[in-house]
Formats: sequence, structure tokens, C-alpha cells
Amino acid sequence: MDHALRASSSSSASTRVVDVLVPVALDQTYSYRVPRGMELEPGDVIGVPLGPREVLAVVWAENAKPDPRLHNRLKDVIEKLDVPPLRTELRSLVDWVANYTLSARGMVLRMALRMGEQLGPERVRLGVRLTGAVPARLTPARRRVIAVLSDRLLHGKSEAAKEAGVSTGVIDGLVDEGTLTVEAMPRALPPPPPDPSYGQPEFSRQQRPAVDAMRALAANGTFHVALLDGVTGSGKTEVYFEAVAETIRRGRQSLILMPEIALTGQFLDRFAQRFGVRPLEWHSELTPRTRQRNWAAIAAGEAPVVVGARSALFLPYAHLGLIVVDEEHDQAYKQDDGVHYHARDMAVVRAHIAKIPIVLASATPSVETEVNARKGRYQRVALPQRFGGQHMPHIEAIDLRREAPPRGRFISPLLAGEIKTAVERREQALLFLNRRGYAPLTLCRACGHRFACTVCDAWLVDHRFRQRLVCHHCGFSMPRPPACPHCAAEQSLVAVGPGVERLQEEAAALFPEARTMVLSSDLITSIETMRSELHEIAEGRVDIIIGTQLVAKGHHFPRLNLVGVIDADLGLGNGDPRAAERTWQLLNQVIGRSGRDQGRGIGYLQTHQPEHPVMKALIACDREAFYANEIEARERTGYPPFGRLASLIVSAGDRPTAEGYARRLAATAPREERVQVLGPTEAPLAVIKGRYRFRLLLKSARGFDLSDYLRHWLANGPKTKGNLKLEVDIDPQSFL
Ligand code: ADP
Ligand code: ZN
Repeated sequence: MDHALRASSSSSASTRVVDVLVPVALDQTYSYRVPRGMELEPGDVIGVPLGPREVLAVVWAENAKPDPRLHNRLKDVIEKLDVPPLRTELRSLVDWVANYTLSARGMVLRMALRMGEQLGPERVRLGVRLTGAVPARLTPARRRVIAVLSDRLLHGKSEAAKEAGVSTGVIDGLVDEGTLTVEAMPRALPPPPPDPSYGQPEFSRQQRPAVDAMRALAANGTFHVALLDGVTGSGKTEVYFEAVAETIRRGRQSLILMPEIALTGQFLDRFAQRFGVRPLEWHSELTPRTRQRNWAAIAAGEAPVVVGARSALFLPYAHLGLIVVDEEHDQAYKQDDGVHYHARDMAVVRAHIAKIPIVLASATPSVETEVNARKGRYQRVALPQRFGGQHMPHIEAIDLRREAPPRGRFISPLLAGEIKTAVERREQALLFLNRRGYAPLTLCRACGHRFACTVCDAWLVDHRFRQRLVCHHCGFSMPRPPACPHCAAEQSLVAVGPGVERLQEEAAALFPEARTMVLSSDLITSIETMRSELHEIAEGRVDIIIGTQLVAKGHHFPRLNLVGVIDADLGLGNGDPRAAERTWQLLNQVIGRSGRDQGRGIGYLQTHQPEHPVMKALIACDREAFYANEIEARERTGYPPFGRLASLIVSAGDRPTAEGYARRLAATAPREERVQVLGPTEAPLAVIKGRYRFRLLLKSARGFDLSDYLRHWLANGPKTKGNLKLEVDIDPQSFL
């Protein structure tokens, strides 16, 4: 805290008032007086008193006409932090996102200042140096401190205390004695910047038009949306790197958004091959120190390229010049707690506000993006062929009605034969099953008892590796009991259905010589182990990979040519309006991992419905058929992007309270012929963590302002009290 900036709080000291936004769950700004001598402008990051605490806040606007009667009751701004002000562009984004998603502005600002305890920029760290005379009488603790500092260099205060094995109080004592002096530690030097000419590849004839388009869009530097639409293995990354290179040359920052930053070790290496250094990373696994340092570097414009998860969208870039959204179709871009926002859509909003270009890259664009490209709202930049003359994988169905696996097994004889051949050829095989754990259900053979979560409407999933039965919704877990808790029968519990762990057991039994590895998010202990496991696969030290959707994304495993999808129908039957699209994307992505380097890739779909339009489009590699079909269906039913959706999710500790409120809420919906209010109905996931859930779905015409409609409705509707909770989800992706 900078005490020099504290001014007297007498009312005559200052008449200037600013409205500030605090990063907590509040929508409105609060007025504070500006102490005399403190220079403040909108965007400045400040400390203000809020209740008994000092909190971080941002000057949102000058209050030109403060109410003089309130003046004496206003509090003073405490300090101004030594960081660049949040630019108008970012403040507009915060306002825009809050308004659109019906979130408190403070909660959106929180993402820009970085959530959690580590709010705000890196504080200056203090160091100590031995400069004065050593006191005549020394305690052993003081002696150890002086020994550590005897080199008369600057040491971090807490490090010195740790090294000497003393509390920092001992150091403070020596500072008071005049033996040590306190100095600010210099900041770590920023890493060398990426070099746009470092490892520029030769582009193929097919890639060149796309490369030219990327360079042109970055050179123009104005708002422009391009869909980089390239089949798996076409070199999308190499191609959009050219837009990044051009942006670096122009001295502006680039943001590359990734759906799953924890898994992008390979990406960081490729970036380093292209630009000579790794980019700055931003995701939830960063240590607080790194996060603060990266935040400060981004705000100071010292980070030319940032690679991050969706939250990186809200960072205070000093001069952002380009956004790339890789795998733009990915569901992970939607945040479903706190502020419900879709990072791809909000990235387009930020690009628009900042007047900069944005590239959406995907082999399987979302239907929304595809329609925008078809209508010419987005420029389509196509890469229709794989790089290096590799063919697209061949896809075949295995009809489980005729080629079923033996009882209790999940790999059909045909697929098993293909895996055997692949392993003998020293190629890799990938078995894909989007189910974590060993088995999705455990039941008692004697009495039929099924193990369910006590607080959720869900079965417990058997995780053999952890030796527990786990609820995937709330995390509750219990050991697998030796006897049925219901009928006390022993040895009566059976696992029903497959998960990846069970599949590994089957693969190991079928191919005892092969090296198998399971990749599943619940088995990741750290990003580093995950990255090293992926590296081992890429190096060819694994024969059979068994994985959930974690393996579908972006990886390049040169020796992988065979992909077997164990249950291709898994995502189709869940009543989700995007079920067909999700299945199309996921299966294309996972099969797209095969045949990327040498030889021909092949994908097998184990399915009960090979005649389903999605399966047919996959097998025929008929992208056009899939999109034409899906777009026609959305248009007919008025689903996005031809209409708009919003969900209201009501929950409470008991069912009647939740249902009663949902009904009263529905009854107050303003009449509007362009809006249909459906429900309330009990949510498919009726209970989570002991909370009973009901849903309302709103459907409107495309051009209709659903956010505004909802704001008026909720302002006049019944209020939530007690433990009732109402969540608003604009453009919902999940309907559970
Ligand atoms: P996509 O993201 O479209 O699936 P990638 O960007 O992963 O494709 O490219 C597939 C592989 O081809 C990668 O190993 C990549 O390094 C390589 N590649 C693509 N374009 C080139 C190029 N012009 N020169 C050298 N290698 C390339
Ligand atoms: Zn649960």
C-alpha cells in the first residue's frame, strides 16, 4: 500500500467523485471520493474500502454531478495500483457480456482481474540486504540470518527467512536495528519475444491460398471473421501461425484460445519450433505467482502471444491485434457456472469492439459458424486436403446387431482382428469410449439393488483404479462394499456396462503382449504427467491407447492408424438438440487422429444404428450431407442459429419449493408473440448435490433481444428467497 497517496478524508480535501466497479457479485457501481493529489482516470485499478476490508476495484466512470448531500458519506479511494488502466475496449466488453448473459458486472470484471485470492497484479516483492553494523549481542537465529546474507546481495525476504530457518519476524528485528535494509526486488526479466521469421515452413500448393488469406487478414488489422475450415491433418495450426506472425510484425498481441489448455504440450512445442520460444500460457493450473506475473506482462504489452483457456479472453491486453479460436466447435468453450458465457461467441464480440480480426479454426465447425460462413458473414478459408499427401481415414461401421462382442465384452471380433494386425505391424490403435471409470453402474445380482448417489439423481460409477464408487456430478465417493448394503448377499455385486478402465482390462486380456495406456481426465494427476504421457504415445512407446474425449483433441500421433469407436451411439440418445452435431464432431475428431503421418488411417464405428443419418454421413465422409441435413432441421424447428434459446434453471433444497417457484415464475412471463416459454419441467438431472431442479426453456426469433426480455421479466417476477436459486443461461449448450 502506498501511504504517500493516502489523503485526508475531510470533505474539503476533494470534490472529485468517481464511480467504481468492484469485482464481486454486484451489478452497480459505487461512488468514492478521489483524495487530493491522486490522479485517476477511467480504467485505473484502485483499492477502495468495502465494509471492513480494502478491495480491488476499477474506476468505471467519472461522476460529473455527485450529489452534494451524499458527499460527506462517501469514502475515499485508498490507493491507485501501479498497473496500466483497463482500456475502454475491455471495459466495454465487461459491460457487454454482463448485459448479454444477465450476470452482475462485478462478476465479469472479476474474470478480467483474475478470480480467486490472487486478485490483481503482482505485488512488489521485498528483499533484504546486509548494509549496517552487526549488533554486538546476537541470538543464534539472528546469527543464521546474517550468515545467509553475508554476501551483501539482495535476498527475497521470505526466502532468506526460510534459508536461515527463522520467522520473518527475526528479519524485521534486524531491519529495526539498522543491520538490514529493505529494498524492492527487481521483477523477473520477460522472456525473449517470439520471432516471426524463426521457423517459417514451406507451404504446399494447397495451403498457399489459405496462408495468403491469413496474412492479409492480419495485415489489414480490422474487424473481420474468418473460418479456417480445414480437414484434420491439413495444417490449420501452421496456417494460422502466419496470421500470428504477421501480427507480431505489426507489434500487436495475439491471443490463441484453446479448449483444453492442459493438453497442449505438443502445441507449445510446435509454437516454439515456429517462433523460437514458447508463448505465454494462461489457464487455471498456473501457480498464483505465475498468474500474477503473466497478468502483469499481458497488461504491460510484454507478452506478444498468449495461449489460453477461455478465461484468457478477459485479460487486459495492452494492444490486442488478433484472436484465434482453435477447435471453435468445442463445447469446453461454454462456461456453465458463475458467468454463463460462450468464449467463442464473446471472442467475436471482443474482436468487434477492439476492431481486430478473428480466426475460428475447426475441421468440424459448429452449425452456427457454418451457417455464418454460408451466408457470407464469415469468410471461409478452406484447407480441403491433408498435408503431405496423406489421405483422410476410411470409415466403416461395425453393426453390433450382427457382429456383437462375446457376452460381457465390448470389443467386437472384427475390431479385435484389426487391432491385432495393427499391433503386429507395429502401428498404434486407439480405442475410444467417452466414459470414465470402470463401469457406469454397479448392481446386486441377488436383490437388484443399484448403487446411486445419495444427493444426486445419478448412478455411482465404479472406478477400479481408485477403488471407489464415484458420483460424476458431485464427487461423492465410497469404497465398493464387500456385501450388498440392501440384502447383505456377498460376492453379489456386478459391474454393468463399460468404462475405459474396463476396456483396458479387455484389451490386456486380448493382447497380452501389447502395451496399453488409459487416458482419462480423472486419471490426470498433473498437467506435467499428462503431457509426458502424451509424449510417450507420440514417441510410439504405447501400442493400444484407450481414451475418453481427451484423446480426440488436436493430438498428432505419427504411428496411429487405427481408431475403434466402442459405442458410436453413446451421444445420440440423450434428447440434446445438438446430439447429432456433437456426435459428428467428436467422432470426426477422434477418427481424424489416425493416418496423419504414414499409411492409411481407418476408423471403425461400433453401432446399433448404422443407418442413422450421422453414421451414414460419417461413413461416406459426406460433410455436405451432414450440414445440409442438420441446417435444414434447425431451420424447420427454429433452433439456433435460426432462433434463439435461453434456459432458466430453478433449484432448491426440496422439490415442492423448486417446482412451486418455477410455476409462479412461468406464470409471470410477459406476453410476447415472438417468444415461446416452455415448461417448467423437471430437469433431466433432477437432483444435484441435494438440490431439486426444474427448467424453463425460452425460444425466440433470431433477431429478438432475449436478454432484454428476460431482464424485464425477472425484474417483475417473483423474488428468490431462502435457498431458492435461479440461474439464467443464454444460448444454453447443456440441457441437463
Ligand atoms: P490440423 O490442425 O489441421 O489437424 P496440423 O496443423 O496438426 O493439422 O498439421 C498436421 C501435421 O502436418 C503436423 O505435424 C504439422 O506440423 C504438419 N504440417 C502441416 N503443414 C505443414 C507444412 N507446410 N510444412 C511442414 N509440416 C506441416
Ligand atoms: Zn452426487
